[in-house]
Amino acid sequence: MSFDTLGLRADILRAVSELGYTQPTPIQQQAIPAVLKGGDLLAGAQTGTGKTAGFTLPILQRLMDKPREGTGKPVIRVLVLTPTRELAAQVEESIVQYGKYLPLKSMVMFGGVGINPQIDKLRRGVDILVSTPGRLLDHVSQRTVDLSKVEILVLDEADRMLDMGFIRDIRKILVLLPKQRQNLLFSATFSDEIKALADGLLNKPALIEVARRNATADTVAQKIYPVDRERKRELLAKLITDHNWYQVLVFTRTKHGANRLAEQLDKQGISSMAIHGNKSQGARTKALSEFKSGKLQVLVATDIAARGIDISELPHVVNFELPNVAEDYVHRIGRTGRAGCEGEAVSLVCVDELKLLAGIEKLIKRSLPKEIVPGFEVDPRIKAEPILNGRNGPGGGGRGQQRQGGQRSGQGASGQRSDGQRQQQGQRRDVAVRVSTDGGNRRPGGNSQNRRSRTVS
Ligand code: AMP
Repeated sequence: MSFDTLGLRADILRAVSELGYTQPTPIQQQAIPAVLKGGDLLAGAQTGTGKTAGFTLPILQRLMDKPREGTGKPVIRVLVLTPTRELAAQVEESIVQYGKYLPLKSMVMFGGVGINPQIDKLRRGVDILVSTPGRLLDHVSQRTVDLSKVEILVLDEADRMLDMGFIRDIRKILVLLPKQRQNLLFSATFSDEIKALADGLLNKPALIEVARRNATADTVAQKIYPVDRERKRELLAKLITDHNWYQVLVFTRTKHGANRLAEQLDKQGISSMAIHGNKSQGARTKALSEFKSGKLQVLVATDIAARGIDISELPHVVNFELPNVAEDYVHRIGRTGRAGCEGEAVSLVCVDELKLLAGIEKLIKRSLPKEIVPGFEVDPRIKAEPILNGRNGPGGGGRGQQRQGGQRSGQGASGQRSDGQRQQQGQRRDVAVRVSTDGGNRRPGGNSQNRRSRTVS
């Protein structure tokens, strides 16, 4: 199937073809006609499936089919809500790319950066607004945004928004929108909460589901390293050093854990930085660009921070701690090899996490290979301890560590992708990391050498 058969305008097709897309992905094949029809949509699709173009292309077409009324400045006709700043930036960047030949104005908005430039931009007029819920509500309270003309609402990664506790914000936003509108809801998973949200929001939605859920890609090499709780960092440092791993994306459960681990690795001479929701946008962008350039050997991320970041051809992904939610593991791994590329994911698992591991193995219906590193044999005398607020091991806050309140266990989503061919050990890889402005051109259907970047949400 080619894009030409989907009924999109020539100026949209031209932009798409310039990005090197030759065929619509499965979600695009289904979502584009459904959105063009004007009805609501409930789509089960993860990042990496091409879902952004799946909703953006038909939205652009619909806006062009029905030009805005009057000749004045644009009004917000499309609102896209995303859980994270990175995803918001990425989505808006896609809108700019796909709409480059159209006279439409888009804007991205999130917290952590000054509000005044956003107010100025809103004043000048915007057709498509991509925002995180919190900052949008800041503008609502300052009366600097007008949502009364929204025709299409997109909730992107709705499951993550709920995980991150945005449901109240979403509800507050919904009441500000015109009742008559088109609603598109994208979610990687369907919890009862999501179903409830969809039931209240969507009117006879078209249902689309792509990408296998709860199944891990066959092309991802997965391995478990059993290790004692207090020795995880030591083992991680050894693995990185012995194998000369570069550009390693490491996941911790908590922001505090991410900070500590990055600091400790850095002290040991393994250049590392942490990226998480408490970091300023500037710090996140800096960490990502240093990681991308190869200056930084290790990027330690929380699940939430990793969502929405586009990192590709990444040779090593390490679960320093297993996620509290088994689906999050699948979510990460599922992306890793989906485009037919090899990916590698290793998990350091201590006695406290055996239940989590069992949950993951049950979910993916297979047991994961385990490898004991000599010198790191598990001490059977150590008893399992509960994982409180996401913390247990040394990188996760550790016993006796000051526990910072406020972070929920199981919070957030994971979303790393490690893919691409593995190269010779020790060789730096050309990793594409996309934050907001890098114009990386990602092609899930292309071969791994062509693919310079893919999305992690
Ligand atoms: P998404 O799931 O929307 O984040 O998209 C994942 C990646 O696939 C993005 O980098 C897109 O640029 C890329 N992409 C989207 N649609 C296509 C397509 N039809 N052909 C090739 N690449 C695509």
